[in-house]
Amino acid sequence: MSAALRRIAFIGLGNMGWPMAARLQQAGFEVAVSDAVPGRADDFAARIGGVAAADVAAAAGGADVIITMVPTSAHVVGIIDAIRSRLRPGQIVIDMSSGAPAATQKIAAELEPLGITVLDAPVSGGVSRAITGELAIMSGGDPAALDRVDPLLRAMGNTIHRIGPVGSGQAMKALNNLVSAGGFLIAVEALVIGQQFGLDPAVMTDVLNASTGMNNTTQKKLKQFVLSRKFDSGFGLDLMVKDLSIALEVGRDNAVPTPFAALCREMWASAAATLGKGEDHTAIARLSEKLAGVTLGDKT
Ligand code: NAD
Repeated sequence: MSAALRRIAFIGLGNMGWPMAARLQQAGFEVAVSDAVPGRADDFAARIGGVAAADVAAAAGGADVIITMVPTSAHVVGIIDAIRSRLRPGQIVIDMSSGAPAATQKIAAELEPLGITVLDAPVSGGVSRAITGELAIMSGGDPAALDRVDPLLRAMGNTIHRIGPVGSGQAMKALNNLVSAGGFLIAVEALVIGQQFGLDPAVMTDVLNASTGMNNTTQKKLKQFVLSRKFDSGFGLDLMVKDLSIALEVGRDNAVPTPFAALCREMWASAAATLGKGEDHTAIARLSEKLAGVTLGDKT
């Protein structure tokens, strides 16, 4: 029987990575953390525990499992290049970022001859469910390796789906966000129409949530982040555009016509370009408002 996997290198302590690494630490794993932002790993070690590694290579060197939770596959490729000389046969790399399936499959093909198993396990549920360890995890890769990492995935998530071979979790994740992004746009557009007709957007949200128009946006985003004008869900607008681009790429790779998905991506990309860097994804509501020349909740 294979030995238990206890030593985890966790790379990327952002909005999601920090609470996910904290869950692992609190579940008793030996966690060595690393982040590109100077001081962030030290801060984590001081506040949560574990070890702040000197750099990604040092984190990876002593680990059974190396987890990446960074913005894009390009960041993952950079990390793999930086740790390559420290990798040992038998280690498992899990990319939990919402990456591009083709990029992850390429990394897996490169590392397999070195005896390294690559899995993908992107997540859904946002910062709130990362904090409570209730993420939905979509995993891809070798089933035996997924069995071995199951205890650590269960420290971070409570729904773990096995989607298929490596990269398939990330394809699923991009398609989930396509559905979520489309649902967001149409919900906000409905509120804008309703408000111009004279309806109250808060009442509309209650009615949608009691009716067939309900979706994740109506339930968890409209009042919380849009009507409150907080726009601070913790999931960046640029990251949503990246996910939609991946979904379209998967569609194109498989020769699927994607007219609706393409329009959806272009809307989100336009919002990112119009609103500027650093915006939360919920701020796209401002684009719909701008197009109509209204502000939701503004009764004047
Ligand atoms: P984030 O931008 O908040 O954090 C990313 C972290 O990675 C940052 O701390 C950054 O410094 C670090 N990083 C970047 N390059 C690095 C490198 N080479 N070495 C070490 N650290 C590096 O992003 P996030 O919101 O935590 O998202 C991470 C991934 O999870 C993305 O792929 C995103 O699409 C996905 N995701 C996010 C959410 C959410 O609600 N925020 C939900 C599900 C999935």
